[in-house]
Amino acid sequence: MKEIVVISGKGGTGKTSIVAGLAQFGPDKVLADCDVDAADLHLVLHPEIRETHEFWNGEEARIDPDLCTACGLCHEHCRFGAIEPGDPYRVKADHCEGCGVCAFVCPSGAAAMNLRMCGHWYRSDTRFGPMIHAALGIGQENSGKLVTTVRKAAHDLAEDKGLEMVLVDGSPGIGCPVIASLTNASAAVIVAEPTVSAFHDMRRVHELTAHFKIPAMAVLNKSDINPTMTGDMADFCEKTGIAVVGRIPYDLKFTQAQVRGLTAGEYDSGLEALLGDIWQNILHRV
Ligand code: SF4
Ligand code: SF4
Repeated sequence: MKEIVVISGKGGTGKTSIVAGLAQFGPDKVLADCDVDAADLHLVLHPEIRETHEFWNGEEARIDPDLCTACGLCHEHCRFGAIEPGDPYRVKADHCEGCGVCAFVCPSGAAAMNLRMCGHWYRSDTRFGPMIHAALGIGQENSGKLVTTVRKAAHDLAEDKGLEMVLVDGSPGIGCPVIASLTNASAAVIVAEPTVSAFHDMRRVHELTAHFKIPAMAVLNKSDINPTMTGDMADFCEKTGIAVVGRIPYDLKFTQAQVRGLTAGEYDSGLEALLGDIWQNILHRV
C-alpha cells in the first residue's frame, strides 16, 4: 500500500487546499486528515460521519468526595492551580496537567488519576472516497498519538476495502505530530511558498524527511509572487534531490472555491488540469 503525506514546514502555505484538490483524482484511496490540532479538510470534503470513536489518552486527577477529608494537601502541592478548596476539594479539569502529585500526597486515597478523553476520531464517507479524520479537544495534548491513531485507522480501512493508497493531509511544522504523520510513509510532498519563512521551514522539513529516509517532492505554491525566491527554492530542491512536481501561481480561485465548499478543481477547470498534472507527477514517483 502506498501512503503519500502532504506536509509543509509551517501552516498557511495552501497544504490542505492542495490535498483537497488532489483527492478527486484516482486511484481510489482513503483520505486521512492528520492535521488534528487544526483540522479543516472536512470544510471542503463535507464528510458524512459513519462512526465516531473516543480518543482517550493521558491522565487527569479526580477527587472522590466521599473520601476527601478536606485536609488541603493536594491544593498546597498542585503547581498548576488545578485544585479548588472546599469540602470536598475539587479538581478544575481544564487546569489539570495530569502530573499525579495530588494523588501522591493525598493521605486518604481520595485523589486519584483517571484516563482523560482528549478528543474523537471519525470514519466518514466523502464524494471522493472514505476518510478518517479527528478533532483534538480544546487545550488537549498528545496530538502525535491521535495522528498515529488516524493513520492506523486509514491503513486498516484501506486494507478492508482493498484500496491501494492513503492520501494524508499531514500536520504543519516539524514537531511530534509531523513525525507521527511521516513515519514509514511512501513519500512526502512538501508544499511551500516563496517567502523567507516558508523557504526556511521547507529546509527544516526536508531535514526531517531526509532523516527518516522518506523520498520528498515539492509543490511550489503561489510561485509567481516572488520569482527570484521560487528560483532559489527550485535550486535547493535540485541540490537536495527533491523533485518539484508542480508550480501553482497565486490564484484567488482557491479561496473562492473554499468559500463555496468546493475543491479548486471542482471550481475551475484550469486548476483541475493543473492539479491533475501534479497528481500524475506524484504518482510517477511513488
Ligand atoms: S489531599 Fe486528599 S483528602 Fe486532602 S483535600 Fe486533597 S483530596 Fe481531600
Ligand atoms: S494531577 Fe497534578 S495538575 Fe492535576 S490536579 Fe493533581 S497536582 Fe494538580
